[in-house]
Amino acid sequence: MATLKFNASSLFYTDLKERVNKYFVDKKKSQYGGIRAYIKAALLLSSFVILYCILVFNTPGNLLAIFLCMLLGLATAAIGFNVMHDGGHGTFSKNKAMNRIAALTLNFLGGSAYFWNIKHNMVHHTYTNIDGHDDDIEITPLMRMCKSQRLRKVHKYQYIYWFVLYGFMYFTWVFYLDMKKYFSRKIGPKEDIKIDFKTHVGFWFSKALHIFTFIFLPIALVGFEKFLLGYSIFVFTTGLVISVVFQLAHTVEHVDFPVANDEQQLETDWAVHQVLTTSNFATRSRIVSFFTGGLNHQIEHHLFPRISHVFYPDLSEIVRKACADYGLIYLEQRTVLLAISSHVKFLRAMGK
Ligand SMILES: [Zn+2]
Repeated sequence: MATLKFNASSLFYTDLKERVNKYFVDKKKSQYGGIRAYIKAALLLSSFVILYCILVFNTPGNLLAIFLCMLLGLATAAIGFNVMHDGGHGTFSKNKAMNRIAALTLNFLGGSAYFWNIKHNMVHHTYTNIDGHDDDIEITPLMRMCKSQRLRKVHKYQYIYWFVLYGFMYFTWVFYLDMKKYFSRKIGPKEDIKIDFKTHVGFWFSKALHIFTFIFLPIALVGFEKFLLGYSIFVFTTGLVISVVFQLAHTVEHVDFPVANDEQQLETDWAVHQVLTTSNFATRSRIVSFFTGGLNHQIEHHLFPRISHVFYPDLSEIVRKACADYGLIYLEQRTVLLAISSHVKFLRAMGK
């Protein structure tokens, strides 16, 4: 596949980087998460372990167990947002090994940090919302996420069935999407992906670990029926929450889906492209910011993926001002509900 070209850095990006650098110099801070990220990680990982142990080794009554399975799903999503995602971007800690460990939490949850790095860091963060390149908007044939994708009859109802589809996302990720990447060696525009021995072993180990921890052991200890109900609630909650948080950033009303010209040239530079294709949500909610690991500040994250999410609330003031100064629209939905409603309207429009 031909490589797409962005324009050379715009004045907007050069100026914005200077303003952000000045922030870190003035505050005498480094760009990494540090102690705040460690405390959060310890809190989330221990919640996960405690919930898992209560459910599997000491199964409570049905209603409480259902509630705890949902909490386990939320804890899993939060580990993904706060620990794995930051580790994968190298912003969790100054220490490279700590970032690696944080990124590998994905393997302990059944995924593959290796494929995720290619899909997310290399592909999605570069070619955001470009059809045929950004793997995140490739949910064909079940969903149509932009106008250049083929419209099928079923898409008329995608604004209704998204809920179920997103709920299956985590399960599909572990047992289908990763396998597809592994056997096709292809993610978006990246083809012939090399896999070394260590990655082969890591890949199959993480799948086996997921099957042992979340399927085999629960069946042996709580029985098949309880396992089936619990596991379904756990994977559905995780999938739904992960999907919704990622979709609210790039597939809501007014975001752009840029198309390159015949010479594979895009109209803007990379930074302006990120602003045009990304939207924030509920940035004033401390709870949402805490839980999503700053993924509600997606504009800041896409412009500065190498800066820890703990700084995004501060950076958003700088980015918002720079966008206003350069006449760029800073897309934002005030609350989670408004953002979800915008996503549903977007899906409805794409289904017509
Ligand atoms: Zn990211």
